[in-house]
Formats: sequence, structure tokens, C-alpha cells
Amino acid sequence: MALELFRLDGRVALVTGATAGLGQTMAVALAGAGADIVSLGRRPGDETGDRVTGLGRRFSHICCDLAAATVTDLQDVITQVLFQMGRLDILVNNAGIIRRGPALEISEADWDEVLQVNLKALFFLSQAAARQMVQQGGGKIINIASMLSFQGGVRVPAYTAAKSGLAGLTHALANEWARHNVNVNAIAPGYMATDNTAALRADAGRNQAILERIPAGRWGVPGDLSGVVIFLASPASDYMHGAIVPVDGGWLSR
Ligand code: NAP
Repeated sequence: MALELFRLDGRVALVTGATAGLGQTMAVALAGAGADIVSLGRRPGDETGDRVTGLGRRFSHICCDLAAATVTDLQDVITQVLFQMGRLDILVNNAGIIRRGPALEISEADWDEVLQVNLKALFFLSQAAARQMVQQGGGKIINIASMLSFQGGVRVPAYTAAKSGLAGLTHALANEWARHNVNVNAIAPGYMATDNTAALRADAGRNQAILERIPAGRWGVPGDLSGVVIFLASPASDYMHGAIVPVDGGWLSR
């Protein structure tokens, strides 16, 4: 009975950045709990699609570059989801980019791209999704935050600004949309082994410094997010609004 609270049968989830990394693993986890999946990314979503359909769920992919998407394009994404799947219950705002460099040198182009993909597109996609969820009587929005939603980070000022903004936005949207049964929460992954952190892991000094600071003593892996994304997408979390859940091997507790 208790496990039924975590089932997602009949639900449709849109996962941005589901072609690789954390997004792909979270999409497959949601499918494993019963959801049909729409993935969004610049690349084709075939690999994710094979894994989702292999679990017996429906899958479709929307090719979209969030760095170039207008507000109208983002509204069209939701229209496509409804056309392809008939409803939208879960949005995982996972797509994100990072540009490394000292604050004294970061370019306007890098700043704008990071803020566009990680924050502006996330807001307007959430707005379009929430309009549909309100009509349907509720929904779940899960933002992928970061340790840099809480901390300053090292030479990633635009990323820190965007992820800190995402934390504030998670609270603001939760405040507004809770009364419509739309849950807005966030997951804050710690240091996870994906393409996004390849440069850090390749730098022996930074790699060692990071590992020494993680109480669990290892980098996270994408599967570490599977349980929490199912939880936040499911009825088990219906009374959670505005939470930012760290999955960080204890990094923030240090
Ligand atoms: P990743 O391996 O680099 O994957 C990023 C995903 O985002 C890809 O599927 C990519 O798909 C998509 N994406 C990037 N730019 C896009 C664009 N302009 N338009 C549409 N999609 C785009 O990164 P990851 O490590 O899995 O990170 C996923 C999320 O977790 C990000 O928000 C990141 O900030 C956050 N995060 C990661 C870590 C970590 O340690 N890895 C820690 C904390 C938070 P396409 O290439 O197909 O476009």
C-alpha cells in the first residue's frame, strides 16, 4: 500500500536535458515508476527513448535549443507535449550549462547564455507548464538546483547566479502555485560524475580537494537521484512545496 504512493502510472513527464547525464537517468527512473516520458534536448533522444520504451512506456522527443528558445517557443513545447501525450503531469527542469572562468574575465555572451538556459527558459517553460497543470487540477515541477544554490563556488559566477536564482524561484513559484495543487520543489545534487563536471574530475588537484570534502568519500552518480525524483513526482510528496532537497553525500553538512 505504502509503495503505491510512489507509482506514476498514467502520468506524463517532460524532462529537459534528458539526452544525457542526470536528466537521462531521471527520465528512466520516472518511466520505471510508470510515467510516459517526453524528453527535450538539442541532440536526438534515441538512447533515452530505447531505455524508456524498453520499460514499456511511451516516449517522444522534442528537439529544442533552450539557449535560443523564445517564450513562444517554450509555450509551443508544452503544446507539442499535449499533442503527443494528451496531458502533462510532471516537469523536470534539468537542462543546464556551466561556463568556467574568473569573475574578472567572464564575457557577456557566457553570462547571457548561462542565465538564459539555466534560469529564463526554466521560468517560462514552468509558466507554460503550470498553466496546463492548473487546468488539469495539479502537477509537479522539479527544478534541478546545485550546491551553488547555497554557496559561491569557484570561478563559475554566472552558474552560481542562475542556480541561486533557481532556489529563489522555487520558493516563489511554490508560494503562488501550491493552492492550485502544483508542487514546485528542487533537488540540489552535489558533485556528480557527468559531462558537466568532466573538467573538474580531470584536474587532479580539484578532484582530490572535492573528494576530501565529501563526507561520503565519493563522487555522486546519476542513479543517486532516482529515488528522490520519483518521490517528488509522486503523490508521496503532495504536501511538499518549495523544498530544496540536497543529494550531496553530506557536502552541505560539512
Ligand atoms: P550534462 O551531462 O552536461 O547534460 C546536460 C543536459 O542538458 C544534456 O541532456 C543536454 O542535452 C541538455 N542541454 C544543455 N544545453 C541545452 C540547451 N541549450 N538546450 C536544450 N538542452 C540543453 O549535465 P548534467 O551533469 O547531467 O547536469 C544536469 C543538471 O544538473 C544541470 O542543470 C546541472 O547544472 C545540474 N547539476 C549537475 C551537477 C553535477 O555534478 N553534474 C551538480 C549539480 C547540479 P543536449 O546536449 O541534447 O542539448
